Amino acid sequence: MDILAHALWARSGFAILNRRSRVNRASIHWALALAVLPDLLHNLPVLAWAIASGNPGDWWTYAVALPGKEPMLPALVVTLSQQLHCLLHSALVAAVISGLVYVVRHQFWLPLLGWWSHIIIDVFTHSADFYPSPVFYPVSSWGFDGLAWNTTWFTVLNYTALTGFGIWLFVTRRNAELHHSSTTVAAPGQT
Ligand SMILES: [Zn+2]
Repeated sequence: MDILAHALWARSGFAILNRRSRVNRASIHWALALAVLPDLLHNLPVLAWAIASGNPGDWWTYAVALPGKEPMLPALVVTLSQQLHCLLHSALVAAVISGLVYVVRHQFWLPLLGWWSHIIIDVFTHSADFYPSPVFYPVSSWGFDGLAWNTTWFTVLNYTALTGFGIWLFVTRRNAELHHSSTTVAAPGQT
C-alpha cells in the first residue's frame, strides 16, 4: 500500500486502541514512524547515490518506478536497497525483533503494531507482478499474489474507506471521551 495510506490506517487503528485503553502520544508517534519506515528506509541508499552522482532526480524516478522500469543503479546500491526492503517487510524479522524487545521490556512494545500493520497490509496489497511482499524473508523471497494497491478502483475504495473511518472517528469522538472518563472515574470504586 502507499505510504500515506499506511500512516492513516495505523493512526486509525491507534485511535481505536486509544479508546479501549489510553495510549500515550509518544507511542502513537513511534507507531506511525514504524508504519511508514519499511517504505522509506530502502530509498536511502538510492537517494545517497543519486545525490553523490549529481542526479538527485534519479531517486524520484526510482521511488515511483513500476516493476522493470527502475533506473540503472550500481549493484551495491541495488543490493542495499533490496535488503532493507525485504528485511523490513518480513514477518519473520518482525517476530524476532518483537521477541527481543519483549525480552528486554518484559512486555510487548505497542508501537511495533505499526510495523506489523505495514507487513500484514502489504502481503495482500501487492501482487506477483507488482513487488510481491517477501513476508518470510530471509527463509524465502515468496510473496502472496494479492491485489496491487495502485489498481485505480482499489485506491478509490481505500481512501473512501479511510475518509469514512476518519469521519466516524471524529463524529464519535465526544461520546468516546465521555465513556472513557466515566469508566476511569468508576474504576476505583469497583475494587
Ligand atoms: Zn511496504
